[in-house]
Amino acid sequence: MARFYLTTAIDYANGDPHMGHAYEKIGADAIARYRRLRGDDVWFVIGMDEHGQKVQQEAESRGRDPQDWVDEVAGRFVRVWDRLQISHDDFIRTTEPRHERAVDALIEKIEANGDIYTARYEGYYCDGCEAFRKESELVDGRCPLHPSRDIQTMEEENYFFRLSDYRDRLVAHIEAHPEFIQPVSRRNEILRLLEGGLEDISASRSKVSWGVPFPGDPDHTVYVWFDALPNYISAVGYPGQEFFDRWPAALHVIGKDITRFHCVIWPAMLMSAGIELPATVWAHGFLMIGGGKLSKSEAQLLNLESLIERHGPDAFRYVLLREAAWDSDRDFPGVQEFLDQFDARYESDLANDLGNLLNRSVSMIAKYRGGVVPRAAVPGTGTTLETDLDRSGAEALELWTGAMDALRLHDGIEAAMSIVRAANGFIDRSQPWKLAKDPDAAEELEAVLGSLVRALVRASVALSPVMPGKCREIWDRLGGEGPLPGPGDIDARIPTRIADSRPGVLFPRPEA
Ligand SMILES: [Zn+2]
Repeated sequence: MARFYLTTAIDYANGDPHMGHAYEKIGADAIARYRRLRGDDVWFVIGMDEHGQKVQQEAESRGRDPQDWVDEVAGRFVRVWDRLQISHDDFIRTTEPRHERAVDALIEKIEANGDIYTARYEGYYCDGCEAFRKESELVDGRCPLHPSRDIQTMEEENYFFRLSDYRDRLVAHIEAHPEFIQPVSRRNEILRLLEGGLEDISASRSKVSWGVPFPGDPDHTVYVWFDALPNYISAVGYPGQEFFDRWPAALHVIGKDITRFHCVIWPAMLMSAGIELPATVWAHGFLMIGGGKLSKSEAQLLNLESLIERHGPDAFRYVLLREAAWDSDRDFPGVQEFLDQFDARYESDLANDLGNLLNRSVSMIAKYRGGVVPRAAVPGTGTTLETDLDRSGAEALELWTGAMDALRLHDGIEAAMSIVRAANGFIDRSQPWKLAKDPDAAEELEAVLGSLVRALVRASVALSPVMPGKCREIWDRLGGEGPLPGPGDIDARIPTRIADSRPGVLFPRPEA
């Protein structure tokens, strides 16, 4: 059983969960569920980044104790992840003692390797990034990611990490491991950045009290990024022996705006501490609306909870991953265009194509065969009742596997939906209602009805990483037993009798 340790970026506890957070969790969850279906030993971790200046300021502005405040924020995130059926195995919070222990141990290793020194720093600092910025990085004197904020100048005596020493080793690793940074556009960006050389970075702050005390110097706290990145090792028990049961991570899923931290700083920290690097860092693009610039009332329409309730959590997961390719950006011109596309996608793909296929198939099997699912072969005769639909469905599953292995989630969904569309076309062409009236066509009718069930099982297995709840419902309605089969044992586990032939509605249409 292949081990597959998968993480997402931990979310910063200074606001409410929004669509960007949800998109990342949903995509990573689909990968985790796909890997479990394939039989991998998956360990999936998400969590919260709870230290730092912005969290401290937010708590202070509310007159709240910072720990009390982050407890409340973490609770809000966890409730949304439950509603979205995120199947994480652990939830790491950087204020937990197990995390602080790991940060301590990691910094001590890095220090023992001679990579920590003190220096006075004077330069530009962006509050939004909580990061120092070089003059050459500013656009019109402002941080390009936070153009509405004034850039600060900051002078501090800090502990520094000798990042500059790792440039050549990083380049060598990235060149030797094309899978390390994906997609390839992000890999090229990082290689270009490394060409320009690296400067050492601050590992501590002396003026931020809400953080992990710097080992051996309680007047300093660990700089928020230096504290956040090690969550990937603290969550699996670093520095304990059990750490080696999970590490190295197979995949860090992150947003494309934090590649510098994950593809440069984090691997350099690990190299310094003598820890193996993660196999792959995947930087997904952004789902944007109106280029990210929304009025307050527009932003309210995108309230995460109301979007989830619009057509339910499965549909929300489906539409996000179907509309925004996992390896690039998707920008909708405005909120209304996004909502229209959301509704159109729900109607066409889910209510019409998938929902109707289930209803038509189940009701025909009930009507023409009393609910008994026809088998793929006539027992004892060697006669196969497989159809073109079986053949195209098996091919689509191959495409699906290739796409999901390559993390092209949108292509995986397309492959799954091609089975659904092919099955609807197959019903229209083969006209089972006519075959049912012709006693000589009994075997052909068996073949048609049986292959519809097999198509539905294939499609629901392939869609289950994206729509776990609804695919489980389809499996139950078809009379499936136990959990959904993996792609390798679909043929052995085709249901034999429809469990429930009532034409219940899988994807109800919203009332006009
Ligand atoms: Zn910034």
